[in-house]
This record gives sequence, structure tokens and C-alpha cells, in this order.
Amino acid sequence: MSEPKIFLPGSTLGVMGSGQLGRMLAIAARRMGYRVHTFSPERDTPTGQIADLEVCASYDDEQAVRAFASGVDVLTFEFENIPVESIRWAAAHCVVRPSGQVLHLCQHRLREKAFLRSAGLPLADFEPVTSEAGLREAVERLGVPSVLKTAAFGYDGKGQRKLSPDSDLAEAWAGFAGQHAVLEAWVPFEREISVIVARSEDGSTATYPVCENIHTNHILDLTLVPARISEPVAAAAAALAVSVAKALNLVGVLAVELFLLPDGRILINELAPRPHNSGHFSFDASITSQFEQQLRAVCGLPLGSTESLRPVAMANLLGDAWSNGEPDWLAVAAMPDVKLHLYGKAEPRPGRKMGHLVAFGATVEAAAETARAARSALAREVR
Ligand code: AMP
Repeated sequence: MSEPKIFLPGSTLGVMGSGQLGRMLAIAARRMGYRVHTFSPERDTPTGQIADLEVCASYDDEQAVRAFASGVDVLTFEFENIPVESIRWAAAHCVVRPSGQVLHLCQHRLREKAFLRSAGLPLADFEPVTSEAGLREAVERLGVPSVLKTAAFGYDGKGQRKLSPDSDLAEAWAGFAGQHAVLEAWVPFEREISVIVARSEDGSTATYPVCENIHTNHILDLTLVPARISEPVAAAAAALAVSVAKALNLVGVLAVELFLLPDGRILINELAPRPHNSGHFSFDASITSQFEQQLRAVCGLPLGSTESLRPVAMANLLGDAWSNGEPDWLAVAAMPDVKLHLYGKAEPRPGRKMGHLVAFGATVEAAAETARAARSALAREVR
């Protein structure tokens, strides 16, 4: 076996992508004395504002990707939609973690689902769909309601369509035509939960307490930690996340989104081979945040403690909060149990993730109430 590759403080971490996940990774990395370079097609990005170096080029620019990778010791990515080819170019010049294979699997729903099924892991029934006739056959087998999703490049509910008994399948398919899609059986879940798991090259793993996620318009709205579920369910969810990380031979951090059924069964919804919105609580509430853990895992350091210090709730701040002008930051600053995170994005478009709030409480319910109150306090009244 080859020697494990360890990158100590002072090394340079490369981050493909430049959004808020890279920003929080960069904060964690710079705090521990690493240098951070980021690569994306944009300038003045959430990650770039923190990094030592922001490279602005297309992911398809082979020369730029190779030059970037030559200038870092270890490279990771902060979102899945980086072309696998770019990761292959990079891997010729530096260590890449997680591997390109993990990225390749997780950026395509069908590949991901086929992998999970072949690994014997639980997920909702599904059918690949490539034509209207195929959609009709799939609906015949899986029934309605069911959910039609694009196989690639979907996130936050984009590229999804719920089918009901009165859906016009020709019209539904028209929105997907030309793309590979997947029809998923409807899951009558009781709760949506997620587990963030980290895995090192030596195979050691660490899981965070289970998150309970509440979505609005398919976008994560609120996360409560610990989730309001029984101990055995929490243990089963954590064990499942570890199984997925092992099956993937992951080195890094993985978010496993799960559906909890009323009978206590758990199904995997989707995977993200990176820190996740539902794990943002850990930045303030855990001994080791998911971002520091990502850094540790990809740099070959031992994993840190995932213990969470207090019940906590995270509320996303979307661009909609700016609809009546700049939010009332002072109102939130006056709340001592609330932490404000802003991602440095200039343009607050509706639905765009601009930041989040983390609130503490004696219970998760109290924390959630404080998080909601803080978010309301930000909203300006229309005058
Ligand atoms: P996704 O982008 O696949 O995570 O889906 C976004 C959200 O849509 C999920 O968090 C669920 O709230 C809902 N959803 C997705 N797939 C299903 C399903 N098969 N059954 C019920 N709800 C679903």
C-alpha cells in the first residue's frame, strides 16, 4: 500500500467552485494556516473573497485547470457540477479528494441510484426515462403520485415535476425532452433528515448528529439538530451514511439526504460528496465544523470531534429577504443567541441563498423558534 498523503498547515488547498460552501471551507482552512486557491468562471465570489488566490476561468479550459492544479498541493470541489474531465486534468498535477469517480457518480441521479441499488442500500423505486413512451411505461409501473427528475444538473428541486393522476404526460415530458430523466416512486415520508459523514483515507469515519430538514418550495428552509427522532432511528441513519461513504470509498465529506417513513424505515434520497446546507449548523455548534472536517479528511489529518454543543437551528436567508430593502441586520445583532452568516453575494435574487442564521436554545424547538424570530426581525416592513 502506498503511504497516505498528508498535507500539513502551510500547504495549499485548491477548491473547484467558488460558492458559500467553498467560502466556509476557506475560512476553516485559513484559520488553520493553509493557503487557499479557488477556481470558477466568476469573479469576486464568496470563496474568492476569503481565498489567497481567485482564478477566473472556464471549467473547460484545460490549460487553466492544469495550471491551477499545478499550483496547489491537494484539490477538492465544493459543488458537483464540475465536469469530470476537469477533475481528470487536475489529477495529473495534484492529489484530488474525493476522487473523480465519486464526483462522476454523484453528479448524475441515475448513476447514483444504480450504484446505491447495486450496493444493497435502501432507496425509493425508480425507472430511467428517455422518451415520452418510456415515461408512460414508467408511470404504469411506479404509479402516481411520482416525481420526474432530470438525471443531471438538478438541485434545490430544479428540474423536477410531481406527476399526479390528472397530469398530462405528453406535456410533462415536453419539459424534459432531450434529457435523461428518472421517475421516482412517491415517498410518503414523515420527516426529511440528513447525515453528514466524513471519511479518511485510512477508512476512519465520523458522523454528525442527524439533521431534521424542513423545505419550502424545494429549497431547504430550516434545519433542526438533533433531529426529533428516536435513538434507534438516529443510529440507523448514521450507520447508513457510513455504509454509503464506505461503498463509495470516499475520502472527504458526504451529505446523505434521507426520507424517514412513518414505520421507521429510512430511504436514501440523494448524496452530495461535500459539505451540505443542512450541516451549516456545525460551523457554530460543533467542536469541528463540517468544513474543518472536509479540510481534515482531504488533507489526511485525523478527523475531529463531531460533538454538537447545544440544540441548534439553522434558517436559510434567501434573496427574497431583501425584497423590501436591506434587511435589518441590527435587529439580529441584538439577539445574543443568534449567529449571522452572509456569503458576500452582491445580488439578492429571489430564491438565491444569500446567507443563513444559526440559533441556539435549550431544546431544538426553542432554537427553531429563535431562528424563525430572527429571520422575521430582518424583514423590513413595507412603508
Ligand atoms: P431532491 O432535489 O431530489 O432532493 O428533491 C427536493 C425535495 O422534493 C425533497 O427534499 C422532497 O421534499 C421532495 N421530493 C423529492 N423526491 C421525492 C419523492 N420521491 N417523494 C416525495 N417527495 C420527494
